[in-house]
Amino acid sequence: MAEPRPDLPPGWRPSLATWRFFEWRWPLAGLAAALLLLMAVGAVAVWAGLLIFAVVAILLALPQRQPAPGESAVPSGQEPNSAMMRFAEALPEPCFLLDAAGIVRFANARSRAAFPLKVGDLLTARLRAPDLVTALQRVAAGGGPVGVEFFERVPTERWFAAWFAPLGAVAGERPDTIVLVIDDLTEQRRAERARADFVANASHELRTPLASLTGFIETLQGPAKDDPAARERFLGIMHGQSQRMSRLIDDLLSLNRIEMKVHMRPQDPVDILSVLQHVLDAFEPLAAELGVTVESELPEGGVIVPGDRDELVQVFSNLLENALKYGRTGKRVVVSLIRPSGARSACLVSVRDFGPGIPAEHLPRLTERFYRVDDDRQNRGTGLGLAIVKHILNRHRARLSIESEPGQGALFSVRFDESTLALPAPQRQEKIA
Ligand code: ADP
Repeated sequence: MAEPRPDLPPGWRPSLATWRFFEWRWPLAGLAAALLLLMAVGAVAVWAGLLIFAVVAILLALPQRQPAPGESAVPSGQEPNSAMMRFAEALPEPCFLLDAAGIVRFANARSRAAFPLKVGDLLTARLRAPDLVTALQRVAAGGGPVGVEFFERVPTERWFAAWFAPLGAVAGERPDTIVLVIDDLTEQRRAERARADFVANASHELRTPLASLTGFIETLQGPAKDDPAARERFLGIMHGQSQRMSRLIDDLLSLNRIEMKVHMRPQDPVDILSVLQHVLDAFEPLAAELGVTVESELPEGGVIVPGDRDELVQVFSNLLENALKYGRTGKRVVVSLIRPSGARSACLVSVRDFGPGIPAEHLPRLTERFYRVDDDRQNRGTGLGLAIVKHILNRHRARLSIESEPGQGALFSVRFDESTLALPAPQRQEKIA
């Protein structure tokens, strides 16, 4: 039996034989052309040419199944009818029609894209999960429908839910056809795992300052009760810890807000140069406090990108603050913007510091939530800054790249490509007559 083709003319409801002719239309046309040519030059008699063509067409129309290698001894069931196949083809999930021996008799387009199985293959020769095999055996032996979850390790880890249902069988009897529908649970499982990791990390991060606060409260209530100097010192530390908790919560909320709208591309025209100028002004006091000189290399004029101004301020604030905090020993930070000539919204913004840099093995993980190069929680950082940066830039369809050579500093670059969105036309001076 040939597989139905996704390129069938819409509305066409072919029988199995017609379907097979459709599948073989080009070889048949080729054969017809060759025979006509041979008949025209007299190499083949007209009756012989017609006979050859008729025999080939009849052979094509006969029901057939191509067994997989080594599988010819397996008994086959009834061909699924074309209504079943059209129904399976219409399903949004991968769907197979199997015979009672577990041989694929039909595979819809989704399943062909998802699994290396074709008509004639033995299902369990390719999908070998033990639970799947047992479930198929139960249904094939006349049991009712069975649902089962299974896991594939190769080429990547994937989770699936499979549903086997017998068709056209009286309960307890071997079915002619078994429908198998497979649901891919991989994304769902990954999301569940990521959520569990996130909750564990977030509580761990909050528990550290909380434990410190509890400890100081107990000390102030007990041993340091009548020690004003210790009280002052402890209250200062407690203030720092409570601020850290509050920063963590702000960052978590910020990340959550951005994640919720990650698929909505912001549309307001934002002048990146004015964003950078704003950020440079805001960090002047911190730079002075840390003894770092901030240099800016910004072109004249404006560079307008479609975006959300507050979020872009957050991006460049995070990058500049990190450069000042972590690269302060380099004493110098350079913020630059390069715009390709003629571009209206394409540009490359970079923040470079000359501090200790970041070892190469950490670079791919820097934008993960709570990831820190050295686990220094005394630092102001929450480990969420670059995760927020990445999410905001994803939303803006901009790209972050991080380069660093230990001892030479770090370079964080953000690339905005030329936008295809309609930005307001450049302001024109119009004369009023
Ligand atoms: P944090 O809030 O802790 O600063 P980030 O997500 O902004 O978290 O940064 C993650 C980690 O990346 C930081 O803890 C730091 O170790 C490292 N890092 C970020 N920027 C720099 C930089 N310019 N130089 C060296 N290390 C950096």
